[in-house]
Amino acid sequence: MLLSALMLVTVFTRPVIFQPLFFKTFYLSIPFFFYIVYIVLKNLRTHSSYAAMNLIGIAIVFVAFFNDFAIAGDWYDSGRFMLPAVGIYVFMHFVFMSKGFAQSIQETEELNAQLFTLNTSLDRRVQERTAQLNKLNEDLKELALTDGLTGIYNRHSFNEFMEKAFKKAQEKQLYLSVLMLDVDYFKKYNDHFGHVAGDELLKKLVKVVAIQLPQNSFFARYGGEEFVIVLPSMNYEEAYEIAESVRQAVAGARLDHPYSELDFVTYSIGVATMTKGEEFNSETELIDKADRKLYEAKQRGRNQIG
Ligand code: GH3
Ligand code: MG
Ligand code: MG
Repeated sequence: MLLSALMLVTVFTRPVIFQPLFFKTFYLSIPFFFYIVYIVLKNLRTHSSYAAMNLIGIAIVFVAFFNDFAIAGDWYDSGRFMLPAVGIYVFMHFVFMSKGFAQSIQETEELNAQLFTLNTSLDRRVQERTAQLNKLNEDLKELALTDGLTGIYNRHSFNEFMEKAFKKAQEKQLYLSVLMLDVDYFKKYNDHFGHVAGDELLKKLVKVVAIQLPQNSFFARYGGEEFVIVLPSMNYEEAYEIAESVRQAVAGARLDHPYSELDFVTYSIGVATMTKGEEFNSETELIDKADRKLYEAKQRGRNQIG
């Protein structure tokens, strides 16, 4: 308040008035001076270089001020330094501020660069995760459609395929053949060699059968040791021929089965064909017929086509 009042007096009155007033009130500025020193020293504790610069600047200004005051009071004679001192102080501020400005620009650029790197790596990670997720989805789909032991299609896939194949055959008046396969005396094989060996045998059999099948056939595990093959657009004679080549390939593989009446692992196969989509009302009827034919093959002595 006091300082503001003095400034107003200085600005709006002539030197004859403000100079004596200035000398009379000068001593009032001494506590103010100490207060400033106190504030600067307090700031110095924060170890900020800005506080240090302020201290130096204010010291310069005060030394110049006291010098000029002493000259004005005719205590001694020398040059006046107040103006250059204030200039130096302002210049110091200017240098300090431009340094800070340059520093903050550099920091902003560094932060931008870091942000860019983070964004890029985030992008890459999102892409990796998406690829992993897609792969997992594919695997899951595969798992849902295939049989865990043998790797061929499972019963669920067979049902879906068969439904579509039957509809298509009926609509377009096409042949549709189904083979039902069942391992002969498999229970005895399991009983004597164990379930693990039984599983291994099923895997081997799938490989032997698969190479006998044409491209457009659909091979699935129907359940247990029973398998099913769908042969779209194939008439009875052709389907029978495929069944016979499968039977021969399995019997010819000479896979030991000492507890079978036939000494080797064999298959019985039932064949059923829908001719031009007329004689069956549903795919189930066609499957049932293949099953009955399989039963006939078993009845006739196994290792044959029914
Ligand atoms: P048949 O000649 O009349 O077909 O006689 P079979 O002994 O093969 O027929 P049955 O249906 O009586 O026996 C089938 C056996 O298949 C019974 C079961 O222990 C076995 N089995 C079913 N699923 C599996 C499997 O996933 N692994 C193994 N190791 N054995 C299985
Ligand atoms: Mg069976
Ligand atoms: Mg069997």
